[in-house]
Amino acid sequence: MDKAGIYLSVPFCRQKCSFCNFASEVHPFSQLPRYLHALQTEITGRARLWRMAGIPSSGDPPVNTIYLGGGTPGLIEPEALGKLLGTVRSCFSVDEEAEITLEASPENVTAENAHGWASSGVNRISMGVQSMVEDELRAVGRRHTAETVGRAFSVLKQAGICNLSVDLIAGLPRQTEQSWETSLEALLRLDPPHFSVYMLEVDDDSRLGSEILKHGQRYRAAEVPSEEEVAAFYSAAAERLRADGYEHYEVSNFARRGKASLHNEKYWTGAPYFGFGVDAHSYDGERRWANTDSLEHYLEKIAQAQPPVVDLKTLSAQEKLEERFFLGLRRRQGIRASRLNSDFDVDVHQKYSAQIHQFREAGWLETDGDWLRLTDSGWLFSNEVFAGFLA
Ligand code: SF4
Repeated sequence: MDKAGIYLSVPFCRQKCSFCNFASEVHPFSQLPRYLHALQTEITGRARLWRMAGIPSSGDPPVNTIYLGGGTPGLIEPEALGKLLGTVRSCFSVDEEAEITLEASPENVTAENAHGWASSGVNRISMGVQSMVEDELRAVGRRHTAETVGRAFSVLKQAGICNLSVDLIAGLPRQTEQSWETSLEALLRLDPPHFSVYMLEVDDDSRLGSEILKHGQRYRAAEVPSEEEVAAFYSAAAERLRADGYEHYEVSNFARRGKASLHNEKYWTGAPYFGFGVDAHSYDGERRWANTDSLEHYLEKIAQAQPPVVDLKTLSAQEKLEERFFLGLRRRQGIRASRLNSDFDVDVHQKYSAQIHQFREAGWLETDGDWLRLTDSGWLFSNEVFAGFLA
């Protein structure tokens, strides 16, 4: 069996970024110790909680990735972080060389934190940079500057954490072709081994997204670039990063050789992962489940020794096949038709002949021997392609 990943959700942030559609909130920090305690209770009591929720235990597979995200886990005191990771290690068989990623904001990276993270075993930092242009950062409620990011890089490297990833968002208010290039070039000078480049998601789950949908003015919604501009920013970044030697290994992700995120690969390859905490999602190879996205509800459930699971679904063979299609197509490599044919006893070229024909005609999909993959222009329309393969 594939090795598993562990996801630990820490839904606390100092302030809510206007574009953020995560379950993270600006909860009072006085609640963080109680939350961390609940998280450890959920991890140690998982077998009983899962049984109560109707999730049969298939035994714990060995673990080779741990990812702390969901908000700003970089705000956890290093000592408390060490305890939390100690709990995971005492409950799961975690590889010595496991990839342990912590999401942090550049302004949370101090020498003390960085050394504390390193001694807890954290060996990868995913930094929510989003932009290196101050005007854009202020427009969405971020407090750092390009200088803060540069300082964070050197502090982390001095502490021995060199596996660094940065997030950039195309589509922020006030962003222009020139400011996008400024952000990209400033980050390239820092030479992070990994980039994630996202296009702004416009939906009702973020304040900025819902204002854009209402054609309102708040959160500088009227100053976001057009969809065409955002697509052009993304394409320009992809081209620039590839020219600089980064491998474009997934729709939104670029890495130096050997630096792809092992944890995120689990989401796209069907490997198991177990999430703990608010809004954490899990997959054991047969079923998917999700915890409540309300902090109060979560704390209440754990205090009552009840499972915080609110959604549980056992996947049918058809659903598994569809997932393999749309998750596999997120990766540069694409999907191997013969492998799906033997795993699901189908002929995918026959079953999906209409979709394959349609997306090849559109120039979004290509076949290469046994492989099916998105083309460069297909990356821009990936959601349309994925939807096409859903029943
Ligand atoms: S984008 Fe990150 S830092 Fe900002 S509110 Fe969302 S989780 Fe918190």
